[in-house]
Amino acid sequence: SSLGPEQEGLIVCHYGQQLDVESLSPDTRGQLFRCHQRSNLPPLVTGDRIIWQSEGDSTGNSTGIIVALLPRHSAMSRPNARGEQRSIAANIDRVVVVFAPVPEPFGNLLDRYLVAIEHLRLKPLLLLNKCDLMPAETSQDADDAAALKVSDLLKLYAGIGYDTLRVSCHQPDSIDALRELLSGETAVFVGQSGVGKSSLINTLRGIDDDDNDAGAADVGGLSKGRAIGREKGTHTTTATRLYHLPGSGDLVDSPGIREFGLWHIEAEQLMYGFVEFRPYIGQCRFRDCRHQQEPGCALLAAVKQGKIKASRLSSYHHILQELDRN
Ligand code: GDP
Ligand code: ZN
Repeated sequence: SSLGPEQEGLIVCHYGQQLDVESLSPDTRGQLFRCHQRSNLPPLVTGDRIIWQSEGDSTGNSTGIIVALLPRHSAMSRPNARGEQRSIAANIDRVVVVFAPVPEPFGNLLDRYLVAIEHLRLKPLLLLNKCDLMPAETSQDADDAAALKVSDLLKLYAGIGYDTLRVSCHQPDSIDALRELLSGETAVFVGQSGVGKSSLINTLRGIDDDDNDAGAADVGGLSKGRAIGREKGTHTTTATRLYHLPGSGDLVDSPGIREFGLWHIEAEQLMYGFVEFRPYIGQCRFRDCRHQQEPGCALLAAVKQGKIKASRLSSYHHILQELDRN
């Protein structure tokens, strides 16, 4: 079979060896081609921009071969069983960290996400979902205390300088604000189970939760009679897919990405992941300061001056302890 001219494409689905390329050429823009990659290329992933050539044959199949990888501006990776870093998505701009009043975020989960995101030099958005369940800020009811603590968390991160947003899947205006914030970016959604990632993704994509769309994210973690056995359905649960959102903006999703957490972290990188600590790194009197009760500790001084929240320093110590244990 003969090869077409070299052209630019975007990998929009990655499953095993299989790569679906969306054409970026004017004449075939938006069309999908099932491609394989030349063996001299590194493993390619969803979000990669590549050079490919169509494989002409008379059957009208849309297939092709990927011949080059264009530079990545970011890569999400995780270690495999042998500890080698494996890319799972490329050219991501934004990691949306979803949390909610229920289930309440456990421990210092949000700080862990932020450390991992800072390490990859990606941009986080702290997204408080299920705002329809939030009690009034002025509530004195003891039952509301936990939910209001979640609201305080959002304020803490806004104070540090992170992008934050409150939304509810049941409040379309709030979803419009989210859509606006994500426009022109490629985002992934992470967060603990039950916070509403699937619901948000489906809402942003304009998909009804009750749709039998094989590509719809699984709300509530239960399969709702989705089509299986067909080419699309069989791969739905493990493939990493890129979706174009109505308007502008892309979203990359897969179960592996949703589990994104502290995969990459070395103790030395931990402090760097607490952005507001950075000006004080190397400023302590003792080079081996553990920032616990040492005299001349720059971080403890910053806490005293209100420049660093005590809860963030104690979160740092907790994560450090866990890393020491492993
Ligand atoms: P995931 O595990 O993070 O993907 O969470 P799901 O999208 O499966 O949502 C978990 C549950 O929370 C489902 O029962 C959703 O209907 C519900 N949920 C999602 N978003 C909202 C919201 O904004 N408000 C309320 N009240 N419930 C929501
Ligand atoms: Zn110190």
